[in-house]
Amino acid sequence: MAIESNRLSEEVLKDFFSDIHPPFEYDEGAVIEANRCINCYDAPCTKLCPTHIDVPLFIKQISSGNIKGSARTIFLSNIMGTGCSKVCPVEKLCEGACVFNLLKEEPVPIAKLQRYSTEKALKEKWNLLIRKESTGKKVAVVGAGPAGLACAHELSLNGVDVTVFEKEEKPGGLMTYGIAAYKVTPEFCKEEVDYITAIGGIEIRTGITLGKDITLRELREKFDAVFLGIGVGKTRGLKIPGEELEGVVDAINFIYNLRTSDYSKVAVGDKVAVIGMGMTAIDAATQSKRLGAKEVTMIYRRSENEKPCTDSQLDIARLDGCHIIWLAAPKEIIGENGKVKKLVCNKMKLGDIDSSGRLSPVETGETFTLEVDMVIKATGQLPYEELIGKSSIRAREGKIVISENSETNIPGVFAGGDAVNGGKEVVNAVQDGKNGAKAILTYIGI
Ligand SMILES: Cc1cc2nc3c(=O)[nH]c(=O)nc-3n(C[C@H](O)[C@H](O)[C@H](O)COP(=O)(O)OP(=O)(O)OC[C@H]3O[C@@H](n4cnc5c(N)ncnc54)[C@H](O)[C@@H]3O)c2cc1C
Repeated sequence: MAIESNRLSEEVLKDFFSDIHPPFEYDEGAVIEANRCINCYDAPCTKLCPTHIDVPLFIKQISSGNIKGSARTIFLSNIMGTGCSKVCPVEKLCEGACVFNLLKEEPVPIAKLQRYSTEKALKEKWNLLIRKESTGKKVAVVGAGPAGLACAHELSLNGVDVTVFEKEEKPGGLMTYGIAAYKVTPEFCKEEVDYITAIGGIEIRTGITLGKDITLRELREKFDAVFLGIGVGKTRGLKIPGEELEGVVDAINFIYNLRTSDYSKVAVGDKVAVIGMGMTAIDAATQSKRLGAKEVTMIYRRSENEKPCTDSQLDIARLDGCHIIWLAAPKEIIGENGKVKKLVCNKMKLGDIDSSGRLSPVETGETFTLEVDMVIKATGQLPYEELIGKSSIRAREGKIVISENSETNIPGVFAGGDAVNGGKEVVNAVQDGKNGAKAILTYIGI
């Protein structure tokens, strides 16, 4: 057993990491699917979309050949509509709400149709939303993830000059550095960011960290308002013996390496255990398998009914051949020569409902042991406590506390996205960015 890179050929890796939900091959395919939509007057799909895209309208525009209009409808509500069409867990959002589900029929493929028109807009560089003349107002946005970018775009649209400060080399946040490579490629992320900034009035300054290179006080002095869209940080620790052994890795770091280097250079074990059952855990498990791990076992302390991922996400892991062990929690990692050798787990049972509203996991007293050489921790992310904790921004459990109008306890400083909600989805971050921008526009008097 060993942790190694270069397990599969370039060709196989390219195939394994290719687009998991390919687009329509022919325009006719999109038109046929668009014509299935019955344009529900109360549009449950629109209601369930956090950005409230007018789904019946954009689909009608596709069926009538107005692709530009369709893309514009989507971007008016969600400037990251293309990215969202690739990464949104639509089975619990728009497509999950489609009335065809009630008839036990396939829902209208809303995400695929959304991708159809917006991808054309990105490729053709259609200029669909026009920026108002500059008002001379300046706003700083910290973090170039979905929340920061959506906020910057909405502000710029309304004539505000925006400077985005980003600590990484590339903008995009977790779209660029976190989400599975078979959903969004680095090339796509760049294309989407370029499309967003093409509106003008947005300068993205990468390699600049708030709290290190700049301070909130400086930003407050130089800009009319500040928006914080800094996301969340590292994976929560397991707090069990053996966590320091070589071969125990943080899912976020593992995925970050995957997104920033050639797949062939990313090392993975023969027998990998992934702890957790959220989106990050699924991405870590499926990508370990696709990198060539022989056995991947996912371990979750509750039962399938309480899992945080969706059924479709779990299906991907199952189809990739990952084993799933429900009702098990890591107890100890045993090493040999400083390297991971075994994972001891407690068998769990379900107890009373806990504060999360789900049945709680309770130890049974029985254990089992797995032979593994790599343990990937994907047990939820911790907020940037060092940054938030040290500042005067009010936070609860590391999450920034905001008022109804997205403002923090510091006047003129607004926030949104994962930094506030503790980690949801791209589409929620986009809506938070828009909400923040609207509140800022009121604050600066536009
Ligand atoms: C592994 C993984 C897989 C996921 N898969 C999906 C998925 O399939 N679908 C989905 O919808 N969602 C998914 N998510 C969740 C989604 O990525 C996030 O909800 C979304 O990116 C949050 O956007 P954000 O802008 O709030 O934060 P982020 O995307 O984290 O962006 C925050 C930005 O702020 C920057 N930053 C942080 N601190 C500083 C600082 N001090 N100074 C300057 N810049 C700073 C960061 O570098 C980053 O670019 C996934 C998340 C993870 C971790």
